Amino acid sequence: MEEARNYHMSSKEFRDWGYKTIDWIAEYLEKVEQFPVLSQVKPGEIRAKLPDTPPQQGESFETILKDLDKIIVPGLTHWQSPNFFAFFPGNISAPSILGELISAGLGVQGMLWATSPACTELETHVVDWLVEMLGLPKQFHSSGRGGGVIQDSASSATLVALLAARERATADISQLVAYTSTQAHSAVEKGVKIAGISLDNLRFIEVDDSYAMSPEALKQCIVADINAGLTPFYIAATVGTTSSNAIDPIEQLGAIAKEYKIWLHVDGAMSGTAAICPEFRWIHQGLELADSYCFNPHKWMMTNFDCSCFYVQDSSQLIHALSIMPEFLKNQATESGKVIDYRDWQIPLGRRFRSLKLWFVIRHYGIEGLQHYVRKHVALAQEFANWVESDPDFELVVNPPLNLVCFRHQGSDQINQAILDTLNASGKLYLTSTKLGQKLTLRMSIGQATTERVNIEQAWQLIRKAANCSE
Ligand SMILES: *Cc1c(COP(=O)(O)O)cnc(C)c1O
Repeated sequence: MEEARNYHMSSKEFRDWGYKTIDWIAEYLEKVEQFPVLSQVKPGEIRAKLPDTPPQQGESFETILKDLDKIIVPGLTHWQSPNFFAFFPGNISAPSILGELISAGLGVQGMLWATSPACTELETHVVDWLVEMLGLPKQFHSSGRGGGVIQDSASSATLVALLAARERATADISQLVAYTSTQAHSAVEKGVKIAGISLDNLRFIEVDDSYAMSPEALKQCIVADINAGLTPFYIAATVGTTSSNAIDPIEQLGAIAKEYKIWLHVDGAMSGTAAICPEFRWIHQGLELADSYCFNPHKWMMTNFDCSCFYVQDSSQLIHALSIMPEFLKNQATESGKVIDYRDWQIPLGRRFRSLKLWFVIRHYGIEGLQHYVRKHVALAQEFANWVESDPDFELVVNPPLNLVCFRHQGSDQINQAILDTLNASGKLYLTSTKLGQKLTLRMSIGQATTERVNIEQAWQLIRKAANCSE
């Protein structure tokens, strides 16, 4: 008979390797600026370095850690580099990493209050704190009919808002019409597909010169749909579009939503964090007219992915859309009606203890620390925009409201594409592009935790040099 064996790491080994793993992360972050920001590997290159078959016998943790440097790091695009200006900020921080680690170490499931009361109550408390910190409307605070929850992503938030709106609507699903702008995130279209709404019933509303949704165009479209016997049920507005950071006029869109009794969801995934500074709260003007709202601390609030805060003004509508009560989940706490069971606020059943990292971040930085970085990033972006404007070879495509600068070389799309390709192949920075007014536009997104003025200066020099070579 085989002798009873224990394959686990001992507590001592766990401590030793745990300390070494933290050392590894700290060293990675110390030297992250030295790597090419955009990974330069070819498709298949990483897999070719991995063994064909998994190990029959376990390996030493030392070998495993070594393979990180050998195999994994070369295949990374370094989102934490101070020279990462692509897409959107995906910043992290030491307290957040540690909160994530502790969440992993606790390994609790928070689907019901009863499955770990602290997991639910800390989450409610922290999302309530954020209502205060961002100056969000009181209707999103858990003390009333509404409240917040942490979703994995803004895409999920968009979808569950849509499901609650579908539930609230009384017309047949084939008659329901959803509205968003031509600049909205693709998550809206994906949500509509998943929710079983025909894509023929999703309207992409025209935008104004700043790429914000036009309330007049929205209203016309709604009226036309009603006249055609259809039922408008959902508007997805954006505070800070991904493409160009456009801020939809929530107040005017909200008035239309109220007039026609349409659910208004506001997506502030990337830019909502700015509202931690009172001077940027104008982005949320009219938010009290929204039925739901979300923003991602996992973008610009020093919190590791995944962490998207989602708020509703009336949680009963959301719960009505998503609640299930199989026999195996029945428990006294739920039946007492005194607790929140967050499984009814999201699509999956299981849920991680995500609020720990957010709690650590808020407590470590304080409101003041978080404000400091938002202000710094916005100031750097505005300075960069001034450099662009005063250079005759370049133009600003829109005035940057916050920390995303959309600009282009005055020449053709080919020149702009060549500039982008040269820069990204250099590994010295990473920029992405978009199309605005049919023209290829470069996007400089400034929001990484460790980005300093020197990184912006260096980027501008490299951009001008790439332009000189491409002309
Ligand atoms: C980034 C972004 C999203 C998608 O966010 P996920 O959390 O990755 O789903 C949606 N909307 C806007 C405006 C965004 O900036």
